[in-house]
Amino acid sequence: KKPKPDLKPRSEEKPTNPDRIDDKWRPPVTITEPGSSPETYAMGRKLGKGGFAVCFEGRSRKTAEIFALKVVKAKVEQRKMMEKFRTELQIHAKMHHPNIVEFLRAFTIGDHTYVVLELCPNGSLTEMVKVRTCLSLPEVRRFMIQICGGVKYMHKRSVIHRDLKMGNIFLDSRMNIKIGDFGLAAVMADEQDRRTTLCGTPNYIAPEILSKSGTRGHDNKVDTWAVGVICYAMLMGAPPFQSKTQQEIYSKLRTLEYEWKIDSKNYIPQQAKDFVASCLNLNSAERPEMDDLVEHEFFTMGAIADELDTSTLKMTPLWL
Ligand code: ADP
Repeated sequence: KKPKPDLKPRSEEKPTNPDRIDDKWRPPVTITEPGSSPETYAMGRKLGKGGFAVCFEGRSRKTAEIFALKVVKAKVEQRKMMEKFRTELQIHAKMHHPNIVEFLRAFTIGDHTYVVLELCPNGSLTEMVKVRTCLSLPEVRRFMIQICGGVKYMHKRSVIHRDLKMGNIFLDSRMNIKIGDFGLAAVMADEQDRRTTLCGTPNYIAPEILSKSGTRGHDNKVDTWAVGVICYAMLMGAPPFQSKTQQEIYSKLRTLEYEWKIDSKNYIPQQAKDFVASCLNLNSAERPEMDDLVEHEFFTMGAIADELDTSTLKMTPLWL
């Protein structure tokens, strides 16, 4: 996208978005779902905030199970955002896979819509990689195989995620991958082309999304590109095209300008580089399907961590 001309004074650069939940907003102590068999949630700590949503823990009064309650404004001013929420809920509700955040239900009370999601208490891959700098090969293999498994499931059901990135990939209590945030997801047959209005996050964006030439709309291979970016980022600690400005990121990814910096402490085997390179192919048609990726030699050439405990959020596992 073309950068917008800088017309506004600095102080007004970030106008408050009326569709965004206020930072200071707190939910009531308990939330009772409307309906014939209502469920009451005791609201707990804030889990995080996104572009539009705020997420809190909510403990079910019936079962004592804790969920993540994502709160968004029930009435948003921008029509596009309303569509985004609707698509997100419709698509997410149909996804049932061990590596996809389970969507339980959604309901509206007053000005807020609550989305009840499976709780992922260990944050996202972004935080883990930030703390650890980079992850070990057995960990990366475990996470990548789970990510590919979840994405394969979506693609089989004609769903493209379109916003796969470390920040949308959460960890459950047993350090299993849970892919979340279906806010940009689309069903493949969808004629509507939303590339100009909604497009992933600069670091993870596939080149065909940037080029205005193709009019057929992007296919599921945009997710394959993002999978390559994620794998590189876990191995190296930062995305491959990381730069100061969005323009620089775009120019680097268009020419596949990335490198594997040699470091005595961080050995990257050729199979891992091949895995990433196969995903980061400028020609989307040549990128592998998830079926091929899960068979990649990267997964068979070395150990896969079969269990991880939460200490690995902070430290390299002791068995390494
Ligand atoms: P948005 O759609 O506004 O971007 P997100 O889906 O990214 O909102 O959620 C906002 C934040 O809430 C996330 O960054 C994360 O910290 C937290 N969060 C979201 N879903 C869960 C979940 N299932 N379990 C735990 N925390 C979550």
